[in-house]
Amino acid sequence: IHWEKQVRNSAQIHRPNGFSVLVTGAAGFVGSHVSLALKKRGDGVVGFDNFNNYYDPSLKKARKALLNSHNVFIVEGDVNDAKLLAKLFDIVAFTHVMHLAAQAGVRYAMENPHSYVHSNIAGLVTLLEACKTADPQPAIVWASSSSVYGLNEDVPFSESDRTDRPASLYAATKKSGEAITHTYNHIYGLSITGLRFFTVYGPWGRPDMAYFSFTKSILQGKPITVYRGKNRADLARDFTYIDDVVKGCVASLDTAKKSTGSGGKKRGPAQYRIFNLGNTSPVTVPMMVGILERHLKVKAKKNFLDMPGNGDVPFTHANITFARRELGYKPTTDLQTGLKKFVKWYLAYYGYNQGSKSVKL
Ligand code: NAD
Repeated sequence: IHWEKQVRNSAQIHRPNGFSVLVTGAAGFVGSHVSLALKKRGDGVVGFDNFNNYYDPSLKKARKALLNSHNVFIVEGDVNDAKLLAKLFDIVAFTHVMHLAAQAGVRYAMENPHSYVHSNIAGLVTLLEACKTADPQPAIVWASSSSVYGLNEDVPFSESDRTDRPASLYAATKKSGEAITHTYNHIYGLSITGLRFFTVYGPWGRPDMAYFSFTKSILQGKPITVYRGKNRADLARDFTYIDDVVKGCVASLDTAKKSTGSGGKKRGPAQYRIFNLGNTSPVTVPMMVGILERHLKVKAKKNFLDMPGNGDVPFTHANITFARRELGYKPTTDLQTGLKKFVKWYLAYYGYNQGSKSVKL
């Protein structure tokens, strides 16, 4: 069949000792960047995504086209589809799985709680089952989230800090994912690395995230809503540039040890790791808006509102000592520089020119 051939071609390795990596969520923001980075250095990469319509599906199609132009094929499917996953593991002996498919966003859980359970819990288990029985078993690197630190206000957050007070269903599903992956590691010998990303931003980003939706509104002359926390304190985020996160993901794959199971049974102790991937320099949301205003050369119309308690936490700040030591992870892009690159991409992609829609570039 045609698509199977495309999968095989996409999985071809072009460097000695290269990996063949199944990237789930490959049409997503982080997944598309990671897929490209791996392909560019010569690894075999097969993407997987259900192209759901949580946000503008045309953006996912555009990322897919970009990946296709670099010979990365994306299989369209849901991580809950056990048969399709088994078939893929039959076609390719994946050395690694980079699992980035998930229902993201904290506020949407108020509208559609079950989509989080479906993708982030049931889907994760289906994927782990497929990895468990695959021969050879791949090593797994997957995206948890800084949201697991929840209402913990003791910053900066270290990996061993408490994660028992999630502030959203999204956070609760990521926390569950950490427990579930630990179980599969323990019982079946799967090698697992969980990455707690901190507010990732950049070109080809996610339209539901504040920096992205603010950019759109500012250019359209529409007001933006800036939330404030307790006692009107500004919210702050440890904004982390996509290229830094991609380096952390690739280093995680490079340092992942092999899984130790076979035939669904553990043969020895297997690696289990969790890393913070943040920037370690939180910026308040109003300061982030100020940077956008300067890059866009347009003033924002700001409405300040008290945080309605819909899943957002007051601030995030990563301690990255562990990732620095084990992965050589060292973020190099500050928010000023990263947002400049985002705005440049945004203007080129959407063809806006200082407030008025201009010719598409
Ligand atoms: P994204 O929404 O752009 O990418 C996720 C992709 O997964 C989407 O393309 C979506 O279509 C796909 N997907 C969702 N459910 C699926 C399913 N059941 N089967 C197959 N595909 C499915 O999000 P992102 O920002 O690229 O996030 C990637 C990962 O990182 C997610 O696990 C997310 O929870 C996590 N994360 C992201 C951030 C961030 O700031 N971007 C922060 C913390 C954690």
